[in-house]
Amino acid sequence: MRANQARLDFDALRHNLAHARSLAPGARTMCVVKANGYGHGGLAIAQALEAHTDALAVACIEEALELREGGVRCPILLLEGVFAADELPLAAEHNLWVMIDNHKQLQWLEQAQLAAPITCWLKVDTGMHRLGVQPEEAEAFHSRLMACANRTGELVTCTHFASADDLSSDQTARQIELFNAITASLPGPRSAANSPGLLGWPDSHFDWIRPGYMLYGNSPFAQAHANTEALRPVMTLTSAVISLRDLAPGDSVGYAATWTAERPSRIATISIGYGDGYPRLANNGTPVLINGQRVPLVGRVSMDMITVDVTDLSEVAIGDEAILWGPQLTAGEVAGHAQTIGYELTTRMPARTPRVITAP
Ligand SMILES: *Cc1c(COP(=O)(O)O)cnc(C)c1O
Repeated sequence: MRANQARLDFDALRHNLAHARSLAPGARTMCVVKANGYGHGGLAIAQALEAHTDALAVACIEEALELREGGVRCPILLLEGVFAADELPLAAEHNLWVMIDNHKQLQWLEQAQLAAPITCWLKVDTGMHRLGVQPEEAEAFHSRLMACANRTGELVTCTHFASADDLSSDQTARQIELFNAITASLPGPRSAANSPGLLGWPDSHFDWIRPGYMLYGNSPFAQAHANTEALRPVMTLTSAVISLRDLAPGDSVGYAATWTAERPSRIATISIGYGDGYPRLANNGTPVLINGQRVPLVGRVSMDMITVDVTDLSEVAIGDEAILWGPQLTAGEVAGHAQTIGYELTTRMPARTPRVITAP
């Protein structure tokens, strides 16, 4: 058996949720657990959060039904709404909330024959230009939804930010201003903040916050920010050294020989690769922790293995622990060496890497 594990600390998860709530004490909280809980295991994450949140959110009905089958009872919003009319009776049956973000979805709702009415959120496009009704359509959608017999409960109007992770961009302030103008005449609660909105843009908190990424303990910002200091990474990705060798100057390592030793070098092979969720684009110099000390990745990432330069470590042995990311080395930092963001690293973690819950 290989030593690879994605260790999950649910104390950290609940700590991060408490931190999120403390930043917007007047708002209700919807924890986003789409895409298998950003790769951490959707059901286990939902079960750990359920008692501490007002609602959960996923991308689509398949994800929501998996949580219901696992016994999760709290409200679950489908962030993209339904993709076909025949999902609406299922949503009604399983008490799922649905996003309405276009004409088609509104028509399906108005024309559906449902055993029970559904709670809806209305999404308005304030600049992301991906989903949502146009600002000038918002009032008409809102009144039709208010009048719709297949709808029940509060009607939340929401929007989504394009650049909230960039604190120097003025787009978020413009989106908030437009959202305020659109909703000034609309009754009902409002929601805008994803993790970077919640952490960095206090004017975005409104009545419901929708944190995702920050719950898993990483900062959505490239820069340091006071509100991210308390976050604790939930996932620690671990593996082990399985081979050691000494190279002479001029010897190269790995596929396509992308790294060549310039001095007598000691190379450790670690049994984790892109088939286990480690990013193939991680470049020479990407940090890896061996016995808690940083060493640089050298050579291409293979499917099942990587190689690191341990020349400067005093002691390394086969079997020693390697940490690819976790509290001492964030997924965001590793992602910065691999042309991506930490969101993608955890979300793409394949089933091949076992999830092990270390703090239930
Ligand atoms: C994914 C998502 C979120 C959560 O975003 P994070 O940046 O992970 O906090 C919130 N709202 C919507 C509509 C989303 O799709």
